[in-house]
Amino acid sequence: MNLTSPSQVKAWCIENGFHPNKVLGQNFLIDRNALVSIVDAGLAGCPDANGAEVLEIGPGLGVLTEELLNRGCTVTAIEKDPVLAARLAESLGNPPKLRVVEADALDWIAGTRIDSDCNDYGNAVPQFDAMVSNLPYQAGTRILLELVKRREIPSMTVLVQTEVAERLAAKEGSKTRGLAGVWAQLDYDVRIVRKVAASCFWPRPEIGSSVVTLTRHDRNVGFSAKERDVFHRLTKKAFEHRRKQLGSIFKDLIQSSARAEELANEDWINLSKGIAENEDA
Ligand code: SAH
Repeated sequence: MNLTSPSQVKAWCIENGFHPNKVLGQNFLIDRNALVSIVDAGLAGCPDANGAEVLEIGPGLGVLTEELLNRGCTVTAIEKDPVLAARLAESLGNPPKLRVVEADALDWIAGTRIDSDCNDYGNAVPQFDAMVSNLPYQAGTRILLELVKRREIPSMTVLVQTEVAERLAAKEGSKTRGLAGVWAQLDYDVRIVRKVAASCFWPRPEIGSSVVTLTRHDRNVGFSAKERDVFHRLTKKAFEHRRKQLGSIFKDLIQSSARAEELANEDWINLSKGIAENEDA
């Protein structure tokens, strides 16, 4: 099947009695140009695509999976839908460089230690060079932020709704600045690569999407586990009351009339370091 042919994808669904599941965010990418640009962006950071270890969350019918394999990558694909997970490898001709895991990505991430030989699913877990995914609508942001927190994958390229993309890339002082941006940017540089129209998916979603690349930076490698914990707690609380001045949320801890969205990550880092040090004292 040509996975960027809308008529072939629809025909496959009809023949197999498969109804795309809204709750699982099943909007299949059916546009060749968008496919090429997401995979190009996804592999740009890999010195050699041939042999790169790539993680894909939500492979669906396998449009990205197939392109990644064609470029020579080894792909670990995590799919929650048992019907799609069961057919993926065979539908692509059982490629030796493909591993399919049927799991909810959030459980899989939680049960996976990338530095150990084996995870809860009994799979060997490689050191990934990149993650490339068209993420499901509902769970997408959570899945991405879990991976961001772990800092294990140097490059992550995802297709998400444009709104989510803008939040991930938002700088301090902008209206869309929120937890997603603050957390993602702690260890990753976020770049919006391009927009992808709603018409590039089937079924067609209500809103358009964008390709976003997160590239790990090493500016905060010295930030300790304890300071990171303070950083996440502090920013979570601050953005829960985003209209309030920080001084009124944190009383004696922070004297400031600024609101959460106005602070740069450097400010949050300095505050977290100060608080962590005080907690130690
Ligand atoms: N990558 C495919 C499919 C994208 S649709 C394409 O671009 O066409 C999103 C996919 O994520 C679907 O296959 C859906 O079943 C899967 N999915 C949804 N929630 C998931 C989760 N929590 N963990 C893993 N896969 C999930």
